[in-house]
Amino acid sequence: MGTELVVQLLYLAAAVLFIGGLMGLGNPETGRRGILLAEVGMLAAVVGTLLHHDIITYEWILVGLVLGSAIGTVMALKIPMTKMPERIALSHAFGGLAVMLVGITEYHHRGAGMNTLHISATGFEVLLGGLTFTGSLMAFGKLQGFIGGKPFVYRGQNASNVTLIGVSLAVLAFLVYAPATPAAFWFLVAGGLLLGVLLVLPIGGADMPVVICLLNSYAGLAASATGFALGNNVLIICGALDGGSGFILGMMMSKAMNRSFSNVIFGAFGATPDAPGATTAAGGPAPNEANLDDAVEILRSARTVIVVPGYGMAVSQAQHAVRDLAQALKRIGSEVRYAIHPVAGRMPGHMNVLLAEANIPYDQLFDLDDINHEFSATDVALVVGANDVVNPAAKTNPQSPIYGMPVFDVELAKTTIVLKRSLNAGFAGIENELFVKPNTMMVLGDARKTLTAFAAKLKE
Ligand code: NDP
Repeated sequence: MGTELVVQLLYLAAAVLFIGGLMGLGNPETGRRGILLAEVGMLAAVVGTLLHHDIITYEWILVGLVLGSAIGTVMALKIPMTKMPERIALSHAFGGLAVMLVGITEYHHRGAGMNTLHISATGFEVLLGGLTFTGSLMAFGKLQGFIGGKPFVYRGQNASNVTLIGVSLAVLAFLVYAPATPAAFWFLVAGGLLLGVLLVLPIGGADMPVVICLLNSYAGLAASATGFALGNNVLIICGALDGGSGFILGMMMSKAMNRSFSNVIFGAFGATPDAPGATTAAGGPAPNEANLDDAVEILRSARTVIVVPGYGMAVSQAQHAVRDLAQALKRIGSEVRYAIHPVAGRMPGHMNVLLAEANIPYDQLFDLDDINHEFSATDVALVVGANDVVNPAAKTNPQSPIYGMPVFDVELAKTTIVLKRSLNAGFAGIENELFVKPNTMMVLGDARKTLTAFAAKLKE
């Protein structure tokens, strides 16, 4: 069997495994298997590429493999779950950079002699690669706090951005017509890099996960273009899968926040003036701060409890403490269920992953639509580090930036116990009137410590 046939078979296997991986990732129960399939697929793609007849020497490839694997291993081990969006943004930035550099090298070697397909693909490659590189770095900087997380807006912003996109596409068309025009090629490189910065500037930190999905999609399309330029089937297929899945995920996240995709991209969400610390406005009702013993007594007499986890559970890594408390409650005859909001935390499936890590059975986890009507018949809604996803303003205040986002009706439970460290706002930066409702008990402190203390007292 010729080497070329082996390479193509490995590429085919990789593509099939990637599709299987994506299918597995559609459900928490099959998610791990999906990741494993995708990993084996990537191994097949790498081995296939290493067998390629165009490779003259392996020295630099080996250096890259060792260095890249070392960096990837350290990142995987060191970066906590709460920083996952930042890590993903960085990976996309490197992916975009790699694609752009491949495009530049291709043009450098074959520029003037490229046919229409090759020059079109190479042009797209550097435009989208550059855009993904700087856009992802901006997203990383906003999430990490290096650059202000607030939208940066100025007059005529959308119009000038759309103009730059139009001019870049016109230059791309010209390059296809006249490939031997390096100035047009370098304009595309610079235009892509500039567009990445300009397009992410007006988007607030709260929308960064959606932007990261969109950049993921661009990175995929850029990789697909690279596949066309290099005549590499696995890149074409994987790039298309990456581009499609990133786009669909971004749409799903926007839908879960009840926002249109265009509103996320052009809406400058979060540009509202700073809200004061939640519910601390002078003259308003004071939040009902409760001590541990009072909250434990309420839990002890509760027959039904719904746990609502949010980003704070991820920050305090409270998932194991949640499980221990649930077991203690079940031992005294309570029924415990979990209400999972589609945008709780900072990435899709964030809460599912954490609760699965603590071996909480999937059948106790309920989606918003399946459990929201149950709160009115529930003794205790236990809110663990969630804020925006339980903010009644989404239902009652048309001025609120989260108005229209579906939220849990936790205030309808007989008692709502909220665990957080302070009265500060959540990610949307707005007040939460839930904290001053008469049936709400605020137990302030780190969620993990509070839950551990609850469980210990319940066992007494
Ligand atoms: P929020 O960000 O609204 O609130 C989290 C709360 O956790 C904070 O108010 C914070 O209060 C509290 N907290 C932080 N650390 C701790 C700790 N150690 N112990 C106890 N509490 C803690 O989270 P939600 O999950 O309610 O909402 C998610 C937000 O993210 C939504 O606005 C959503 O639209 C947005 N988003 C989510 C995406 C996703 O894919 N999941 C994507 C895009 C946006 P304090 O500081 O007082 O402790």
